[in-house]
Amino acid sequence: FEPWNDPNEKPLIQFKGVTKRFGEFTAIDNQTFDIFAREFFALLGPSGCGKTTMMRMLAGFETPTEGTILLAGQDIAPIPPNKRAVNMMFQSYALFPHLSVWDNIAFGLKRDGLAKDAIGDRVAEMLKLTRLEKFARRKPHQISGGQRQRVALARSLAKAPKLLLLDEPLGALDAKLRQDTQFELMDIQEKTGTTFVIVTHDQEEAMTVASRVAVMDHGRIVQADTPARIYENPNSVYVADFIGDVTIIEGTAKRSGDGYEISFAEGQPALYAVSDVQLTQGQRCYLAIRPEKVSITAEKPENLRNALKGKILDIAYLGNLSTYHVELPTGQIVKAQTANTRRLSRRALTWEDEVWLGWTDTAAVLLEQ
Ligand code: ATP
Repeated sequence: FEPWNDPNEKPLIQFKGVTKRFGEFTAIDNQTFDIFAREFFALLGPSGCGKTTMMRMLAGFETPTEGTILLAGQDIAPIPPNKRAVNMMFQSYALFPHLSVWDNIAFGLKRDGLAKDAIGDRVAEMLKLTRLEKFARRKPHQISGGQRQRVALARSLAKAPKLLLLDEPLGALDAKLRQDTQFELMDIQEKTGTTFVIVTHDQEEAMTVASRVAVMDHGRIVQADTPARIYENPNSVYVADFIGDVTIIEGTAKRSGDGYEISFAEGQPALYAVSDVQLTQGQRCYLAIRPEKVSITAEKPENLRNALKGKILDIAYLGNLSTYHVELPTGQIVKAQTANTRRLSRRALTWEDEVWLGWTDTAAVLLEQ
């Protein structure tokens, strides 16, 4: 049972009608949503959509213009940032260069006046959690970027916050290290049971680490759901397009069986999609089709009602996969992706080839907007 679906679970964070304006500009627009304990919650969206503003309000660096934010049922507005059970880890890590790894992790605990033994125990626990035991005596400049990232994480978890905010936590790492660190981050989140809220530009990263992804657009969360459901059942063209690769075909709908028949262009066959959405006769609609759900063949596919003829325009060979851009006679490009499970044969499809695209009636998602 996912916590955000469990009626017995109380939310850790509640946004209630939260608006944040900077002068005339509305950065966050009347948002009401919950984040639950132990969630790994990702805020995802294009630059300027309000991700950082959300974080800064949670951290206490900004206050909402309207509405309230509750932490464990308590309004956080009157609580100063350093008194909240919330910590923020910055992209720059902000480690003290002159202090050892051990002292960096101990810093907040010392400031809180914790007993020496308790500090020692807690730092040891954090060093173990982040696999930094061997580096305790080193200074930040004597360890690698990945290790510095772990020190920053250990330091921000030392005081056992209820909520940890992570602003582009892996932004400073190179691609390969970033991937390994994503799994480490998930592991640490699970072990500590701390609620993580992450802001990232990288949709693959959000999909990898988060248990729930909130896609934002102009100061609003437009869909918040598991990565799989966001990918498989986007609620709008905006979300379908923002997450992963997709072809959008615009057309008009006509009821047919357990779904709709969609006409999209003169001289092109109708398409079929099984769908629960309620559309009126002739309503404008959009089909969102993931490339890996589209088959590409030299012969017309049998048993598929959705079959379109086109010409290969581009091929991207990615080793394990190949992505084809196929142009329909209407000029529209449809993307198809195949898994290269065998070695490419000499008869493989190539540029300018006339091909057939096909997909099942349940492969495409029908969207109203
Ligand atoms: P990015 O991914 O580029 O960091 P973001 O989604 O985090 O973007 P925010 O930093 O939350 O976006 O900013 C949202 C909007 O609010 C932007 O248009 C920004 O210019 C504006 N904004 C943020 N802080 C302020 C401020 N202190 N004064 C005026 N406008 C601000």
